[in-house]
Amino acid sequence: MNGLIARWHRRLPVTGRTPIITLGEGNTPLVRADRVAKAAGLPPGSVFLKVEGANPTGSFKDRGMTLAISKAVEAGATGVLCASTGNTSASAAAYAARAGLRCVVFLPKGKVAAGKLSQAVMHGAEIVEVAGNFDQALVMANEAAKTKGFALVNSSNPFRIEGQKTAAFEILEQLGRAPDNHFIPVGNAGNITAYWKGYKESGAAPRMFGWQAAGAAPLVSGKPVLNPTTLATAIRIGSPVSWNSAIAARDESGGMIGKVTDAEILSAYRFLARSEGVFCEPSSAASVAGLLKLAKAGKAPSGVSVCVLTGNGLKDPGITARFAPKIRRVKAGGRMKL
Ligand SMILES: *Cc1c(COP(=O)(O)O)cnc(C)c1O
Repeated sequence: MNGLIARWHRRLPVTGRTPIITLGEGNTPLVRADRVAKAAGLPPGSVFLKVEGANPTGSFKDRGMTLAISKAVEAGATGVLCASTGNTSASAAAYAARAGLRCVVFLPKGKVAAGKLSQAVMHGAEIVEVAGNFDQALVMANEAAKTKGFALVNSSNPFRIEGQKTAAFEILEQLGRAPDNHFIPVGNAGNITAYWKGYKESGAAPRMFGWQAAGAAPLVSGKPVLNPTTLATAIRIGSPVSWNSAIAARDESGGMIGKVTDAEILSAYRFLARSEGVFCEPSSAASVAGLLKLAKAGKAPSGVSVCVLTGNGLKDPGITARFAPKIRRVKAGGRMKL
């Protein structure tokens, strides 16, 4: 059997009686990115991309979801629910469909990328559109989670963090050593928490560099953001659930949590697609945007850096229109010069 529970079960809270609900998640590519390295003024072989968009539903959320759903089934749940900026709902819907569970998702109105919404629809999730932002949707999901038989699968669910830590195990295997620096987008801060846990459990300690969008950067300002704004919808979060553990990851590792503007995010997003052949979603590009921002200030850290690209570019087709080239229109069969 494949999937990350099968691969890492000794390091996860499962027993022989845990039913394993898997779609073959994990084992994602670690891609060498010499053009990013060059743009950051770093030597070849010093920057790698962990391409989490290669997971079954197109984001790293699958790592936590395989475990959260498996444990929910083990505990006898009949349904799961979550609030989501999109990817958690896409992943929960898929794994719940596979497990035969109901799935209820609370989504902030008008702020979920089209690809993610289509996944929740097709996997049969029951969709609740909240006229508000993610933080408000999460309050509602937390309340609804008191319903008998339902398990909450947001990243406050500790099994999500446990599943997600396996990405750190993979990076150590793929690199054959610990990276010196780890760059990652930060929204609710579950993922930076999970990577740091995974590294620590392996005796590794890269410096953790977390990146928030400038309009949604509570961990940078030190206070919640009431109306978070950014086109990077997956990190459009004003009150991160894993606030304390994100700060702990930063401080214990000697790293930092910084912010990047939407313009910097889009610039990295485009650069990755055009110069490395890797199409991630805008939120994901915050990690590379952060590295390039430090480089511009002459502060790119030395050694080997891994940048996590959290989700697949196909998730958010709406954003690509602004990059469309001038399109030439020709008659079928007509001649044209290149
Ligand atoms: C969920 C998500 C994030 C943010 O991860 P957190 O664990 O909430 O910090 C970043 N990028 C993408 C694509 C996501 O789906």
